[in-house]
Amino acid sequence: MNGLQTDASRALYERALRYTPGGVHTSIRNVAPHLIFTEAEGAYIYDADGNRYIDYQAAFGPFVLGHRHPYVTQRVVEALERTDLYGVGTTDLEIELAEKICKHVPSAESVLFCNSGSEATYHAIRLSRAVTGRVKLIKFQGCYHGWHDYVARNMLSAWDMIGKRDPGSAGMMDEAVDHTLICTFNDLDDVQRTFEANPGEVAALIVEPVPHNIGCVMPQPGFLQGLRELCLRYGAVLIFDEVITGFRHDIGGYQKVCGVTPDLTTMGKAMANGFPIAAVAGKNELMMRFNTNPGGDVWFAGTYNGHAVGTAASIATIGLMETAGVHEHIFRLGERMRQGIRDIHERMGIRAYVAGFGSVWTTYFMDREPLNYTDLKDNDAELYVSYRRKLMERGIFKMPMNIKRNHVSFSHTEQDIDHTLQCIEDVLKELRG
Ligand code: PLP
Repeated sequence: MNGLQTDASRALYERALRYTPGGVHTSIRNVAPHLIFTEAEGAYIYDADGNRYIDYQAAFGPFVLGHRHPYVTQRVVEALERTDLYGVGTTDLEIELAEKICKHVPSAESVLFCNSGSEATYHAIRLSRAVTGRVKLIKFQGCYHGWHDYVARNMLSAWDMIGKRDPGSAGMMDEAVDHTLICTFNDLDDVQRTFEANPGEVAALIVEPVPHNIGCVMPQPGFLQGLRELCLRYGAVLIFDEVITGFRHDIGGYQKVCGVTPDLTTMGKAMANGFPIAAVAGKNELMMRFNTNPGGDVWFAGTYNGHAVGTAASIATIGLMETAGVHEHIFRLGERMRQGIRDIHERMGIRAYVAGFGSVWTTYFMDREPLNYTDLKDNDAELYVSYRRKLMERGIFKMPMNIKRNHVSFSHTEQDIDHTLQCIEDVLKELRG
């Protein structure tokens, strides 16, 4: 392999740098080589130099059906031919989508729409504070719940900052950082100790039921149930942040898979296959406090909430999940990928752990299953950089960090998976020299 042809991307990136700090519009997108993407279709993305990649990054998760899925596109176009946004009342599309979500997601007695996962977690936390009259929040080291001050701490912390005070950004309010308490995933004793140390002060516990922001760390048996019980015992609201797991792992979210029902759920990403919409849902007892309901005292607003583009896309995406065997397909291909990679590792004697669930997988370069963020200290992140680059040269597009997950979509085929496995084997052979 002679490397990637990137001349056109490089020229465009120079232009981007002139008008945008760092040339990208989300910090984690600033990854070398700076490719400029111009087309996407199904399982494939294309850059300005005409390189084609099988896409597993899936824009950090939304593409559960694949890029520009024709049915979703058609439903969005149809919607835009007759409707858009009004700023008063509600639309037929919002009603249809709300019905679908409440039908499928166990915790959703009612739902409100917004535009991003960060907005959804912000609303869920504010509501929890209002209903409990408390301020503190528990989150887990390594979990990501968006960019706002309530949650943007202790994400991918430096190893010596694990569990310590680690704000994710300059400019965050001290109060917000200090009121967010950090626990270790899969450690119920730690959570209980934290509740005990802050008696009557914890408003909510927010958790990714499967922490996909550190790859695919699976909740150990009883852990999510234990969180449910602790929240009930200490009077805190349990929030499942299903922005990644929602609709991807089951049409009812991971709560349907694990049988644990939270008080509130946040959703986004796979809910609309790449179109911008997110949601907060939960028990009516809590949701009715939002001031969309007359008499409610928790402010909920957003000019673009419930826009026809997002609602039509989400109705189409969930509609296809109801009828077309989407989960059967992505789970089968996900397992084919995971097992195929494990077989390669075994044949070649590679020290790695392939984790995953359903349509996602992560190859950790370490020899045991990680149960929390601290365990990832043993992972060989350096090796992944050259592994990813060499795969990219062969037309395979993976997440920029190996402690993130990769995604299979409804548009990927068995041939895509088998070709990817062949490339993985070739790259591992080349790396071993
Ligand atoms: N929650 C989780 C679990 C996420 O992974 C993300 C984004 O990656 C968010 C919330 C924030 O969503 P958004 O980027 O749409 O604001």
